[in-house]
Amino acid sequence: MLTDRFARRFTYLRLSLTERCNFRCTYCLPEGNDCDTAESDLNIHEVRRLLTAFARLGTRKVRLTGGEPALRRDLGEIIGLCKSIPGIEKVALTTNGYNLQKEISGWKKAGLDALNISVDSLDPTIFSRITGADRLHYILQGIDQALQLNFQKVKLNTVLLRQHNTHSLPGFLRFIKDRPVSLRFIELMRTNDNIDFYQEQHLSGEFIRHQLMEDGWQLQPKTATDGPALEYAHPDYAGRVGLIMPYSKDFCASCNRLRVSSKGELFLCLFADEHQSLRELLQSDDPAPVEAFLQRAIGGKEESHHLHQQRSGQTRHLAMIGG
Ligand code: SAM
Ligand code: SF4
Repeated sequence: MLTDRFARRFTYLRLSLTERCNFRCTYCLPEGNDCDTAESDLNIHEVRRLLTAFARLGTRKVRLTGGEPALRRDLGEIIGLCKSIPGIEKVALTTNGYNLQKEISGWKKAGLDALNISVDSLDPTIFSRITGADRLHYILQGIDQALQLNFQKVKLNTVLLRQHNTHSLPGFLRFIKDRPVSLRFIELMRTNDNIDFYQEQHLSGEFIRHQLMEDGWQLQPKTATDGPALEYAHPDYAGRVGLIMPYSKDFCASCNRLRVSSKGELFLCLFADEHQSLRELLQSDDPAPVEAFLQRAIGGKEESHHLHQQRSGQTRHLAMIGG
């Protein structure tokens, strides 16, 4: 079991499959993909070795992310691989949904359990202004298709932006009235590339929390394996609302996740000052050196990120490590 100095247990791995992306979200990659080529991404054998070692140390859930993970042609194969690794119980994917309709049933067949789709606005014009992609209609149809396929969980991720989301709550609530999705509002995080944008657009999630409480939404109890999100439910709604507020007090106390980049670098925190490369150790089928590396590295995990001191570590943008 991977446990740190603060008795936090790490059972959840977020694995980035590529830094590449086909969207240009204003808060993430406004100039588009400035990242690596497909050749630098971990190959499927390296992914298998990595996951085997993590699973032997207690990892039970894997989230595949990016960049845009659906740009990987072997994504279905990787999902199947994750499912086949002894110990891995849940495989989740975070995607911008650009290819959702076409791919979703294949991913489900490969063994995908849960799906997060980023939807920053339900207004097609605003959506394409934020993402650079005129594709909202298609993505929403893909979400309905995913709901018909009975995934364990379908979540929508919405980044809170002052310019666009101050008045968007009623529209989002209408959307989840009859849809059993968990809509998660994520506070914009400062990265090294978005400092000015962050100053202009950061919006605390507190106003949403107040509004939900006033309207009779109830905070749901957390289980031991739940991460830092708060989740609210209401008897009149099929869906739930989650809040991810990394700037709130004690956000890091319930951290249960580690991250590996598409180049095989271990990030102990989304905003870590350094990362450590595992790639050389992934060239052999022996999991023991990878396990020893992880056991040693976990001792260096800090108690909290330093976003409050305006420090984002080495993180230029979240496409580097998948959010
Ligand atoms: N491309 C996929 C997508 O957009 O869903 C997966 C990678 S993306 C980096 C993962 C999540 O991080 C998305 O929901 C995205 O909206 C969120 N994100 C990216 N940059 C962010 C930032 N600076 N602050 C808060 N959330 C961010
Ligand atoms: Fe691409 Fe996701 Fe970043 Fe948007 S948030 S630019 S879709 S990696």
